[in-house]
Amino acid sequence: MATMTISREARRKTARPSGKAPAQRQSGPLAAAQELCRNKGIALTESRRRVLEILAAEGRPLGAYEMIERVGQATGKRPAPISIYRALDFLLENALIHRLASRNAYLACGHGHGHADPVVFLICEICGEVVEATSQALTGDLAALTEKSHFSPRARVMEIAGRCRVCATA
Ligand SMILES: [Zn+2]
Ligand SMILES: [Zn+2]
Repeated sequence: MATMTISREARRKTARPSGKAPAQRQSGPLAAAQELCRNKGIALTESRRRVLEILAAEGRPLGAYEMIERVGQATGKRPAPISIYRALDFLLENALIHRLASRNAYLACGHGHGHADPVVFLICEICGEVVEATSQALTGDLAALTEKSHFSPRARVMEIAGRCRVCATA
């Protein structure tokens, strides 16, 4: 039987003025990052940690340019873009964040799943909410599909655009 896990990953702040409690959102990705780094013996440097913290606190996808601005605000010094891209690449490689290709933006992930695990993003075009979901059935189907084609996937990220439950009934 297929299991489906869904978690609320991001919600545009303007859509829900009451959507506070950033501390709660922050604990997921950061806790996952700390555990992963412990288990794999990875050093979460200050700049990588700062980028992850900003994404986790934001709770919505951020572009690299916005990230550079945020780091500049946090440290009082505008960082070199290459240092931000390096930090983003590291976090991507370790599945601590995801990249939304359709928006060219990054999103923190607090699920602690593997780098190669398939991820489906349900993206609301009205309020900007992004929900991360996955399913075991999908994992199996994708493995069969790529094996049949003798294809070696680097990433398995799907993006589905549409309307969330709230916006669909509004
Ligand atoms: Zn994820
Ligand atoms: Zn919506």
